Amino acid sequence: MSTIEIREVGPRDGLQSEEPVDPADRVRFIDALSATGLADIEAVSFVSPKAVPQMTGAGEVMAGIERRDGVTYWALVPNRRGAELAVEAGADALTVTISACPVYNERNIHQSVDESLEAMAEIVRVGAGRPIDCVISCVFGSPYTGDQPTQDTPRIMQRLADQGINRFTLADTTGMATPTRVEQVIAVTGPNVGLHLHDTRGTALVNAWTARAAGVRRFDTAVGGLGGSPFAAGAGGNLATEDLVHLLDDASIDSGIDLAGILEASRMLRAMVGHDLPGRVATHGPRSGHLDPSVTTPS
Ligand code: ZN
Repeated sequence: MSTIEIREVGPRDGLQSEEPVDPADRVRFIDALSATGLADIEAVSFVSPKAVPQMTGAGEVMAGIERRDGVTYWALVPNRRGAELAVEAGADALTVTISACPVYNERNIHQSVDESLEAMAEIVRVGAGRPIDCVISCVFGSPYTGDQPTQDTPRIMQRLADQGINRFTLADTTGMATPTRVEQVIAVTGPNVGLHLHDTRGTALVNAWTARAAGVRRFDTAVGGLGGSPFAAGAGGNLATEDLVHLLDDASIDSGIDLAGILEASRMLRAMVGHDLPGRVATHGPRSGHLDPSVTTPS
């Protein structure tokens, strides 16, 4: 098993902030990603197409991808109905979300924290036998209420564990984490968590590095640094997969992922969304050599 596990969230979290991309192109993108050695890919979400038109055709995408051995294909689900559709479509594992900030939970998930916890129990029943990971948003701060009390996170994790969820990912939804905050939170949660980092304030990579030093082994990233929206304040892109893999490679830390393949997927994605992406290594090329002249000369 790799020393560091990376879950690629570009096809779901990333594409969700773009103009809708056809299911056939999303299939092509996911297949390119699964060829790079990634063991975990968040492929789709089963949400209302009215609420999230970018995820229309999630079942079609799941049916179209070429299933690779050793790859876990994750689906984000907001409720029991979503979980049923995901199971029907053959998702290997489910992601659910809740916010550490009650105001954020009400505004973005349209539920109280208690209502979200109740929904978890139903999802756990439907998804029985599959890994279910709860992504806890705003762990490091909330755009509505500012700093988030550190002790809230282990408390929420305990309440989720009571609902049958035993895998957690701590999300820095609007890029408010710093190395200091990461150390404080990991000190109370322990290192057996994933981190989902956004680069809104340019701290995603240094936060990942800090978390790794504290013993964290799982990270969510998106090829190209896709995600967030250039038009919405506080919503920067995800930590770029290629930037983290590049850093780990340099430190001889095994992620099991082929950087050249990720850079190729990043180029494919750039053509798909029709604009430059914030990922640094895709933009400037790896420091160890130039794989393709087009890497260093984005037009
Ligand atoms: Zn994200």
